[in-house]
Amino acid sequence: MGTQSQVVDRLRSAFRSGVTIPEQFRQTQLTKLMSMIKDNEEQILDALHKDLAKPKFEAIISEVDIVINELHYAITNFTSWMQPEYVGKNLATKLDDCFVRREPLGVVLIIGPWNYPLQLLVSPLVAAIAAGNCAVIKPSEVSAATDSLIAELIPKYLSQDCFAVVRGGPEETKVLLQNRFDHIFYTGSQTVARSILQAASVHLTPVTLELGAPDFVLCSQSTRDALLPALRETLEEFYSKAPQKCPDLSRIVSPRHWTRLMELLGRSNGKVVLGGESNQEDKYIAPTVVVDVAEDDALMEEEIFGPILPILTVESLEEGISFINRREKPLALYVFSEDSSVIKTVLEKSSSGGFCSNDGIVHMSLPTLPFGGVGASGWGSYHGRWGFETFSHRRGCMLRGWALERINSLRYPPYTEENLNWLRWTTSAKRSCTLM
Ligand code: NAD
Repeated sequence: MGTQSQVVDRLRSAFRSGVTIPEQFRQTQLTKLMSMIKDNEEQILDALHKDLAKPKFEAIISEVDIVINELHYAITNFTSWMQPEYVGKNLATKLDDCFVRREPLGVVLIIGPWNYPLQLLVSPLVAAIAAGNCAVIKPSEVSAATDSLIAELIPKYLSQDCFAVVRGGPEETKVLLQNRFDHIFYTGSQTVARSILQAASVHLTPVTLELGAPDFVLCSQSTRDALLPALRETLEEFYSKAPQKCPDLSRIVSPRHWTRLMELLGRSNGKVVLGGESNQEDKYIAPTVVVDVAEDDALMEEEIFGPILPILTVESLEEGISFINRREKPLALYVFSEDSSVIKTVLEKSSSGGFCSNDGIVHMSLPTLPFGGVGASGWGSYHGRWGFETFSHRRGCMLRGWALERINSLRYPPYTEENLNWLRWTTSAKRSCTLM
């Protein structure tokens, strides 16, 4: 644990000093985080390009701007999120102050993956700061350039007493997890999530899990027949006939993931109808579409997390819904139809972390919507106020005076039938009143 535990101790004593509590401190740190992103945009884009060959266009839309919007939204609104929330009362508590107070949890740990290596670390960090916490940030070692840039920038911009970056892979993270945190916010795979939970259970640390789920297209045979030529045409329009030469197509993050994907494709009994080309040295895999994929195919067993799209056919909408419902709940469900009753039916008869019709992933760009999974695709959510809530304890508070002690004394012995009746009347939820 060595140096890592020293880091956690440093943050814990800063938290205990109360420095993160004032609104002004949170405001300053959020503003500095905004400057960090804006001042270093070029370096961020370079790092994302080194790690994933992520095109500038995609990096700005899906990393830099998402984080900037999250920051703007939090900076504008966190003061109102911090305010006590007054609640309804009954007769017996009529003169009391009854409210919910949002309090920071303490020292939290944020662990990120490699696919959106900036966004998936900084967005939860925004929420943690807005809610008044100290945070240890653990970027993915797989996206090495972004990992190193984050480690260089965070201490330059944020309070070093309250925020720290710890780097490393599975072994270092396991050691880090031996420390006691007040919350762990983890984005990554289901397999690793199990180890995170085990480590968290030692200290009874609450955990938010942002996980994934297998990705595929479900459609009827006739839709598939129309979809394939449309996909071919669109991919060619997007990436030309030689996608490997196209600067708008990212690369697989590491040789290990390239091999994993190629093995997955090799084990599949489906038929590759589009793409399939690859180049190990360039970590390149063409956008690949596979049809005639059975429910128990290798591509459906584990998460793909790469440019391979299996298409499965079903006979009817009902069969499609039942297919989804007998699998683990997905992180997101996208329905494409011009018929609003189809969209409504799928929405009402299924469950998923998020839902979007006639588009993909866009629901995650709106900070007013909670983002997160359900069941095996994750626990808890964030973005905007939802993230603030994730990193806050909702403390139910009742500030009482002595004015109603006469009513309150009904509860003391010696017990009488009459007192019981009065007490039930004064505490009845039926007679609850809103705050005066
Ligand atoms: P991963 O689970 O391998 O790694 C995530 C983080 O955990 C990394 O920081 C890594 O260093 C750390 N880690 C790895 N092994 C560990 C171990 N044994 N003990 C402790 N820590 C460990 O995931 P990944 O490959 O970086 O990312 C891909 C996964 O992330 C996919 O499963 C994907 O679905 C998921 N994901 C989910 C979301 C979401 O928002 N729900 C978004 C992006 C990615």
